[in-house]
Amino acid sequence: RLATENRRKVAVPPGHTAKSLEEALLDLANILGQEWVKLNDVPLIDGDYHAVPLSHDSYHILDPGDFVASAVCWPANTEEVSKTVVWANKWKVPIWPLSIGRNLGYGGSAPRVRGSVVLDLGRRMNKVLNVDVENAVCLIEPGVQYVTLYEYLQSIGVGNDLWIDVPDLPGGSVMGNALDRGVGYTPYGDHWAHHIGMEVVTPTGEIIRTGMGSMEGSECWQLFRYGFGPHQDGIFTQSNFGIVTKMGMELLPNPGGVRVFMAAFPKYADLHEAIEVIRPLMIRKVIGNVPMVRLGLQDASLYKTRDDFELDERGVVKPESAQKVIEELNTGAWVFYAALYGPDEVTLAKYQYIQEQFHRRIPNTKFYQREDVPENHYLHNYARFTTGIPTWRELDRMKWIPNAAHLFFAPLSANNGKDAGRQANMFRARMEEYGFNYLGTFFIGTRAMHHVISFMYNRKDVAEKKKALACIRALIADAASIGVGEYRTHLALQDQVAKTYNWNNGAIMKFNEQLKDALDPNGILQPGRSGIWPKDYRGKGFEL
Ligand code: ADP
Repeated sequence: RLATENRRKVAVPPGHTAKSLEEALLDLANILGQEWVKLNDVPLIDGDYHAVPLSHDSYHILDPGDFVASAVCWPANTEEVSKTVVWANKWKVPIWPLSIGRNLGYGGSAPRVRGSVVLDLGRRMNKVLNVDVENAVCLIEPGVQYVTLYEYLQSIGVGNDLWIDVPDLPGGSVMGNALDRGVGYTPYGDHWAHHIGMEVVTPTGEIIRTGMGSMEGSECWQLFRYGFGPHQDGIFTQSNFGIVTKMGMELLPNPGGVRVFMAAFPKYADLHEAIEVIRPLMIRKVIGNVPMVRLGLQDASLYKTRDDFELDERGVVKPESAQKVIEELNTGAWVFYAALYGPDEVTLAKYQYIQEQFHRRIPNTKFYQREDVPENHYLHNYARFTTGIPTWRELDRMKWIPNAAHLFFAPLSANNGKDAGRQANMFRARMEEYGFNYLGTFFIGTRAMHHVISFMYNRKDVAEKKKALACIRALIADAASIGVGEYRTHLALQDQVAKTYNWNNGAIMKFNEQLKDALDPNGILQPGRSGIWPKDYRGKGFEL
């Protein structure tokens, strides 16, 4: 028996009975060892960031029991991952790999199909396999977190020379985040763009290496991305075409200095001009990192809770009340955070040039450096982020409301004032109609921006969850109606978002389905991820 005490009824995957599932899992226990396979019959406890459960999505937007695994297993290495995949094909059990399983706001550790078996890769495959100091690259396993990679580089004495790029919170997997195409804050903030070479277990259990790794004896696996012939790497991101077991990541050589600053724009309508000023600074690489513009209220949510504001009858912060807090905190309707890299004289010259550019178009812009702000100011955390040092500060946001969970509504925006302005206005109006505060941030890339809107709701309040889901569905439709698409979304919304990518009658999904059917004939790997369903699932009511 796999269960210690039968506490919660185990979810059974499609095509199985409780009995056939148990038989299959006993077979898996023989392959991996009894202690490395556990039934998911534990109570569904949401936990917190430092103790995220493997049992379900702790930031559930549906019923917590909707997306649950039947069991969790812990393969020890690539060969065991491959054996688990072969096992899944034999028994036709859907499987769902995780690196760490935080993925908060996008589905946590949950699989899309109830009863799937989760492969928690991070627990036993958590090593930094190599650091090539001269070339500033490393090779990692799925369980390497930002914080552990940071500590590892410190421990081998190269932490000052080689920096990592940390996202908002450092507990996630470096590999998992890159595979989901997440973003951070340094010049290497586009995580996927800085991966280099991977090892993948295919849905039928073969093991491949991409790029130069596909050649026996090559020394360039972590040095040259492409190799010969088609470049496959991209199809293993946000997909269900393979399980990644090793990946190279570029590390940022210490640039010899960092100057961070905040610019505060007084009026809500200044967003347009601000982005117009920022675009040429990005394209011409005057600003070298992934800077951000965030709503003043979103910035204030690091220091305040919703109770500190006056709310209207819908529960939305009144503009006058937001303004009062913004004045008290000395910020703006929008704030801009950026980092300049290099020796002091160089960054000072750039800083002065940037100030001039803003003052020309938004004369009342206020600028702050670290010495101008109090100790608890976010700018000090920002200085750490942009230097590759992990911080937990973003957790403060979770105090905004009780039992806070969040989803992200995360559309792409062109890097121009017109698109940013129309998106902010459109999404803010829709969210306020449903009683939610628009808490938006633009993460600014060279030519496009991730407009990440944090959607806070009380996960213990069923009615509020329903409202949040209805609102975010409306936002996805609103965005699509003006040709705006999300870069990433929660499990429950992936079907809807996939359908908005509809050019030429949804040609891209037909192509994805062809790949899926060819690579995964039994449809065992992550059915439904990114809206891609294996042939046996299509049209059978699995889509949401
Ligand atoms: P986090 O780093 O936030 O903890 P997860 O480990 O939960 O992220 O992974 C995020 C998403 O990426 C999940 O949907 C997961 O299925 C997928 N994923 C993570 N690691 C791998 C991997 N090694 N191979 C394939 N997909 C992965």
